[in-house]
Amino acid sequence: MFDFTSISFCNSTNARTGIFTTPHGLVKTPKFMPVGTLATVKGLSSTQLESTDATMILSNTFHLHLQPGERIIKESGGIHKFMNWHKPVLTDSGGYQVFSLGKLNKISDEGVSFKNPRDGSYLFLSPEKIMEIQMDIGADVSMAFDHCPPHTSTENDIEDSIKRTNLWLERCVKTHIRKDQALFGIVQGGKYPRLRELSAKFVSSFDLPGIAVGGVSVGESIDEIHNVISLVPKFLPSNKPRYLMGIGTLKEISIAVAQGFDLFDCVLPTRLGRHGTALFNNERWNLSNARFRDDFRPIDQSCTCETCKNYSRAYLHHLIRNNELLGLTLISLHNISHVIRFTNAISKAIQDNCFTIDFAPWETSSIAHHTW
Ligand SMILES: [Zn+2]
Repeated sequence: MFDFTSISFCNSTNARTGIFTTPHGLVKTPKFMPVGTLATVKGLSSTQLESTDATMILSNTFHLHLQPGERIIKESGGIHKFMNWHKPVLTDSGGYQVFSLGKLNKISDEGVSFKNPRDGSYLFLSPEKIMEIQMDIGADVSMAFDHCPPHTSTENDIEDSIKRTNLWLERCVKTHIRKDQALFGIVQGGKYPRLRELSAKFVSSFDLPGIAVGGVSVGESIDEIHNVISLVPKFLPSNKPRYLMGIGTLKEISIAVAQGFDLFDCVLPTRLGRHGTALFNNERWNLSNARFRDDFRPIDQSCTCETCKNYSRAYLHHLIRNNELLGLTLISLHNISHVIRFTNAISKAIQDNCFTIDFAPWETSSIAHHTW
């Protein structure tokens, strides 16, 4: 039911295009996945989301467990039916959220107990429980439960967390029995090359349908992020999709593709959209700025998204200045379209042998300009 096939390879980097097969359709990689934490990509209907050329989207086990609870989603017929998205869905395990949002009470090999940030009640999550929740939610891809210590932790503490994450992965694999759902393992190890290698080799030793690299872009320096991106793929099997979690800036996406990563996600396009900021090439524009008041061009004349086809910068400026909901929807729609367009252009460039690590196809001097 799950398969990853490489289609073409770049002749100068480790970039590749591929097709990941899931029960709800094919994901052509490299691909950016929009984030819909609470079973909604904020501000967009599923029809609007579809118009951005999104295929796989992300949701979050931790948040859905707290609200509305997996029982409601299961009873509704699963997450695809619940949110009316009939293409692939991936649920993140919530490991990161448990450690960053929950007021922690106790972490042990057994699991994590913490205070529910919504109502202050005590909750306990174990690898088995996280698997059961994800099987109830019913996404195409579920993620293993991982221990994510802060990036400032010592090498010893991160090594302990990897041992725990490894133990938890074994238990996730044992508990996960849903055949129409893939389980991806997660490589951790912070900024330490030795620990990243250890973790990547351990996760690769399971014959899972895909592998993710987590704990990246959690506050560490950009050089440390780049080091992890270039180190880890060496230790991962080449016949499985590689998912770099939480990365969505164009520069980092092209660096990661050049190292052999295939899938990406980030809240940035929608978070910026909700603050009235539009993506243009590799720039960010604050549309509430007075310079857009009488600018009747679309955000990006070369963009074919619904926003750019139908609305002007002046109109969006007007909506943002007046806190109109439509403004946030239209800018989020453009921003998601923009990042997906970027990963689609990378695919085309790999096929045409003109992909480069500093990929900037909007520049007329770029050898990949035709892909934009
Ligand atoms: Zn657009």
